[in-house]
Amino acid sequence: MSVTRRATCVFCGGTPVNREHVFPRWMSRALRNRGAKQFILGMKGVTYRSGEINLTVRQFCESCNSGWMAALERATQPILAPMLLNTDLQVLSEEDQATLATWAYKTALVLMAHEHPGSLPDRWFETFYRERQPIGGVYLGTYGGERRQGRYNVQAGTFTPTGATPPTEPNLFVARFSVFKPVFTVVGYLGGSKVGVNDRSIRESFYRLSPPDRDTVEWPHPVQIDDETIDAGIPVDQTLDMD
Ligand SMILES: [Zn+2]
Repeated sequence: MSVTRRATCVFCGGTPVNREHVFPRWMSRALRNRGAKQFILGMKGVTYRSGEINLTVRQFCESCNSGWMAALERATQPILAPMLLNTDLQVLSEEDQATLATWAYKTALVLMAHEHPGSLPDRWFETFYRERQPIGGVYLGTYGGERRQGRYNVQAGTFTPTGATPPTEPNLFVARFSVFKPVFTVVGYLGGSKVGVNDRSIRESFYRLSPPDRDTVEWPHPVQIDDETIDAGIPVDQTLDMD
């Protein structure tokens, strides 16, 4: 497993920088408590197998780890833990949707930091640290395949709105990750206008959590997501201007 170091916290600039789990330890405990014995997280042929999802990254300080990031995990756990391995009906309130969306956006940023360290300018992390809410779109779906595992696929890119000057650095990232049954798609965009994903799977099998487009979400989604869709991730060039 690769562990990336940097001298100062990419969120707040603080020191020292500690090891942080990309997927929280409560998630590993919840999976064990529900009978999962092995966790596999894979991308690009890399597979992690253990009794714990031990994907870690060293880019955040202790103050962030044990402060706002831990608080976000505490808020998310009661909503997300029951969804991991079963698909009993769960009604997500507006507040639940906002919490899940913020958690998914944070997790997508942390995955970016792990997979492609330095590929996103620091202002991405600084902006999220200040605002603590998704900047872009967050979508939730339901995995319907047979694998008991998680998958992730993240990449940075650029998006140029019609008539605008092309950016000189990444202004967009897209992430799709599954944690067993829940599947998240995150489109991060700092360019100001609204962007979305021009992807059939998004229209057919995901709810948009942020910006929210319904008062309550009844999970699982009636149209479940297959392995091919998970493995394909989201091509950056499928991003489109929604204005
Ligand atoms: Zn920090």
